[in-house]
Amino acid sequence: MATVVLTSIGLLATQSAEYGDLPNAALVIEDGLISWIGPAHSAPDADEQVDLGDRCVLPGFVDSHAHLVFAGDRSAEFSARMSGQRYRAGGILTTVAATRAAADDVLLRRVAALTAEMRSSGTTTYEIKSGYGLTVHDERRCLQLACQFTTETTFLGGHVVAPEFAGDPGGYVDLVCGDMLTACSPYARWIDVFCEDGAFDADAARAILRAGARTGLGGRVHANQLRPGPGVQLACEMDAASADHCTHLTGADVDALAAANTVATLLPGAEFSTRSPYPDARRLLDAGVPVALATDCNPGTSYTTSMPFCIAVAVREMGMTPAEAVHAATVGGAAALRRTDIGHISPGARADLVALDAPTPAHLAYRPGVGLTSAVWKDGLRVV
Ligand SMILES: [Zn+2]
Repeated sequence: MATVVLTSIGLLATQSAEYGDLPNAALVIEDGLISWIGPAHSAPDADEQVDLGDRCVLPGFVDSHAHLVFAGDRSAEFSARMSGQRYRAGGILTTVAATRAAADDVLLRRVAALTAEMRSSGTTTYEIKSGYGLTVHDERRCLQLACQFTTETTFLGGHVVAPEFAGDPGGYVDLVCGDMLTACSPYARWIDVFCEDGAFDADAARAILRAGARTGLGGRVHANQLRPGPGVQLACEMDAASADHCTHLTGADVDALAAANTVATLLPGAEFSTRSPYPDARRLLDAGVPVALATDCNPGTSYTTSMPFCIAVAVREMGMTPAEAVHAATVGGAAALRRTDIGHISPGARADLVALDAPTPAHLAYRPGVGLTSAVWKDGLRVV
């Protein structure tokens, strides 16, 4: 297997506590992994050499929350919201109808386009949820499509109650925990549930997470997005990998997160796109809670694939420093997926890397909206 040395790295922002920021660095890729990092002048020989012209290099972004399997367009709903309407969870059903009606190849092309966008902005690992099928057939179909793109697939039959069960939400929860889970669990690593008024209450969400755990799926929760509620503490109680949104938190919620092995995943694209108050990242960080940033890419409330955009908004609006936001978009995302092989640059980690046309990663927030991604490597292969 050929080795590649990346050299003339102006700053290697490893996001690793052990290695920190290395100026004037080099890095060797071997078999898809990072085999060596250190000062450029002492780099070992390799089969191929790539000169990075003093650019900074950081780990590829880990987008731990994305809804990419869908059809349709909700730009009219967005425009209506921007003229004063409020977001309600039921808007999801518009996308459910379009997704059910779409052929596999239509859905597949959409996922391919969105994941290409992600790659081009520096994302090297992404999670993909189902949740716009809400029938046994369509949830399985969406996850089978998602599996073609990532191993981080999440069954989200518990997104909202399917329209056919509008008068029988308990019957829908039984379906999610029964036949739908049986059909979907072979194609999923995770199970997620939207615990919110208008979606699922704590008892229903707990039942869904427990059923998933029985089939070996790790838990994730859409929690406390629209108002305070039981989602965050349920996520902690169930040892979910992540509580996502965390926009409206009580002191007890923050304490629970600080004591649990559950990451608080913040999704600033959702607040941006719904013109809602942002989560208070500063409060979570000061309490010692592990924080991740993710896009929540979805057609209703956050139609962005850009982690640099999320980093910029998190810094501007959520009290994070640039360094904290970059860390949350790499190490934080990896922790939210319970992965230690990605999100940092160290010998033995996957060679998932981004080179920026910038001297430091702070430029991601300092230069908002500017495409700074110069090159991307995934498993050691140059993909951008
Ligand atoms: Zn979401």
